[in-house]
Amino acid sequence: MKKDSRIIVAGENTMEGKVIIRLLKERNYSNIINLQQPEPKLTDYGMVEKYFKETRPQYIFFFAGKSGGIKANQEMPATLMLDNLKVISNVISLAHEYKSKKLLYLASSCVYPKHTEQPMHPDMLMTGSLEPTNSAYATAKLTGIELCRAYQSEYGDNFISVIPANIFGPGDDFSPDKSHVIGALLSKMYKAKERKDSIVEVWGSGRPKREFIYVDDLSDACIFIMKHYQKKSPINVGTGTTLSIKELAHSIMGIIDYNGTIKFDNKKPDGMPEKILDSDRLFELGWSPSTTIHSALEETYHWFKSVKSE
Ligand code: GDP
Repeated sequence: MKKDSRIIVAGENTMEGKVIIRLLKERNYSNIINLQQPEPKLTDYGMVEKYFKETRPQYIFFFAGKSGGIKANQEMPATLMLDNLKVISNVISLAHEYKSKKLLYLASSCVYPKHTEQPMHPDMLMTGSLEPTNSAYATAKLTGIELCRAYQSEYGDNFISVIPANIFGPGDDFSPDKSHVIGALLSKMYKAKERKDSIVEVWGSGRPKREFIYVDDLSDACIFIMKHYQKKSPINVGTGTTLSIKELAHSIMGIIDYNGTIKFDNKKPDGMPEKILDSDRLFELGWSPSTTIHSALEETYHWFKSVKSE
């Protein structure tokens, strides 16, 4: 990828999309199409085709497709699955038709089987059944990975997939229903502190373990991977640091300076018991994260507070 290559970020309004556009600009990539033309509705084949015809992107960061936390996945499985299937089919097929040099598809760690060895390695994909709370969304994401592999096999296209740890950061969704755990806990505990509530509810048992990645690190890793990785197998992007939901909740309490008590609601689902990625391949290539989970949580909280007070 050269400084003047024609680059598009599909999903420019997602948290990850906004950050990668900022990083590319900071690093003097001068031909980011998103800055010249608004993104079309990616579920609409006709609109996406017109966009590709006009812009002929050479490099595509494919970050689009609706997503949500455990509750959104349970309540809107068809909506999430269909939106993802449509954008996958439109963007990947058109990247082939318009001869893009490289496409990087951002998948999700929910593509791994519910019960599998930890840390999870791409060889373990499709070796067991998916976590039922997000199987529809995960099936769509697996389709994206598989379609990239299929284009590599059939046509030699340089289409690769990235499997990230749970992404968070400024710009994340903080709504109680749709958000992932970090957005939800920051917003719940902030409110509890404001209202002087003595108890805050955390879903599930607190025992599930997750690996989180700050959105700036994820975007930095994607630029690195675009330059240095071209295998058929997806590549994991994690940090190597893991927290239980209980540990995460206590960390967030500390950052917010909320002194109440956590009540675990066992009626709410835990989701996958553990989701830890084996990111050795990426680390061996020379990439490492530059933000600690603590400072990343602090940054995210500061952003959340600044938006609240606007
Ligand atoms: P997941 O990694 O796909 O399971 O996505 P989530 O971020 O939605 O959930 C991660 C874990 O955090 C699960 O075990 C949830 O039960 C737990 N959790 C605890 N409190 C909350 C909350 O308020 N919202 C969400 N989304 N998850 C929560």
